[in-house]
Amino acid sequence: MLNINDPKIHELLELQFKGGTKMLKDDAVQDILTGITNDEENSVSIIKCMLEGKTTDEEIAEETEIRLNIVRRVLYKLYDAGVASYKRSKDPETQWYTYSWKFEEKKISEILEKNYEKISRDLNESLEYEEENMFFICKSNDHRYNFEEASENNFTCGECGSALEYQDNSAIITELKELKKKID
Ligand SMILES: [Zn+2]
Repeated sequence: MLNINDPKIHELLELQFKGGTKMLKDDAVQDILTGITNDEENSVSIIKCMLEGKTTDEEIAEETEIRLNIVRRVLYKLYDAGVASYKRSKDPETQWYTYSWKFEEKKISEILEKNYEKISRDLNESLEYEEENMFFICKSNDHRYNFEEASENNFTCGECGSALEYQDNSAIITELKELKKKID
């Protein structure tokens, strides 16, 4: 079920996607990027550098002062997730290969769109569940049961044995409807 208080949901709802380096200021975008690279410290600087026109790993390492092997690791993780691509070219004199990297902005907006759709789906499911069920709560540990679960256990808490109390969930329904309005 959807946790209405999950900050990630609110980050996503507040997001107004902008292209270019501006998107790197969005919390929802930063979450996606660090989720891919597992490197909160360096990812944003590396991507910012690419968006500003640096294309090779050496250039990026020099500009950001991040060690080359870290830059490479981040780049390949982004590549793996489809968020970066590269072109390989051979220097005719030295016969060495150069890799020109590109950050794929479009992929980020696709990921955001998918996250958004998932929240929207979860929200509708949660709303339906809240509207179609009655709930009982344990005052000592906040465990929540629907009618079937509560009646199976004679209206006592399965965790601690305390008596359950009926919970009016109209405030939860109102909150879910408010969120739904923001999404639609
Ligand atoms: Zn309990």
